[in-house]
Amino acid sequence: MAYDNDNIFAKILRGEVPCHKVFEDDRTFAFLDVMPRSHGHTLVIPKAQATGFTDIDDQDLAYLMKSVQSLAPLVVEGVGAEGFMLQQFNGLAAGQTVFHLHIHIVPRWADQALKAHGKEMEDQDVLAANAEKIRTVVSANLG
Ligand code: AMP
Repeated sequence: MAYDNDNIFAKILRGEVPCHKVFEDDRTFAFLDVMPRSHGHTLVIPKAQATGFTDIDDQDLAYLMKSVQSLAPLVVEGVGAEGFMLQQFNGLAAGQTVFHLHIHIVPRWADQALKAHGKEMEDQDVLAANAEKIRTVVSANLG
């Protein structure tokens, strides 16, 4: 599938749509999912235009996964979770709804079930509070 420059994450990257940003560097950008499966559910995306996992060059993919590896424990610490799950969907049949490559970091608690994928909009105040907690830990560790 060709990359659509008007997908919602492309608009977030261009600053045309607001988001709860938690991290940005030269090649990657991270922000909270507005329909989180758990508190602190974070999406990490490449700045490169990639539709899915097989549409990105090796260097950008490696950089993206390194960002995910760095951010995941900081997201966990920020919201006081006990672990995390990674998810990544490719194609409509697999449940992909936004066609700009993204890795989901989903914080987990042993006694809390996950919410459904992309179904329930979170309150903006809750998202803002969770983003602030994560940014505090991210800025203390990644500058
Ligand atoms: P996927 O189904 O893997 O393509 O995931 C797309 C995710 O993007 C879903 O979990 C949605 O809740 C999330 N999402 C959609 N629009 C936005 C938005 N404007 N800001 C943040 N997250 C979004």
